[in-house]
Amino acid sequence: MECEQCKDYVFEYIDKSLDQSKLDSIKEHLHSCKTCKKFYDEEDSLYDESFTDMIEQVDQIALKDDIITKIQTKFHEGDTKKN
Ligand SMILES: [Zn+2]
Repeated sequence: MECEQCKDYVFEYIDKSLDQSKLDSIKEHLHSCKTCKKFYDEEDSLYDESFTDMIEQVDQIALKDDIITKIQTKFHEGDTKKN
């Protein structure tokens, strides 16, 4: 595998969203290539720290938005019934 190819696949590799043969070839490349290993380590730590946090936050925001929408709908329903 080429370095460029490996870097392209690093995120999917971290996310494990690749097929087994690709995962294996990237794993192999990371073992033999320090440049890509470094790149992978950096991305992997970023993914751990910020990406999972971000997903959690997005989930919470989505949940909040959903609740707010439901509350607004309820209020709106109440208003239209009153008038
Ligand atoms: Zn490489």
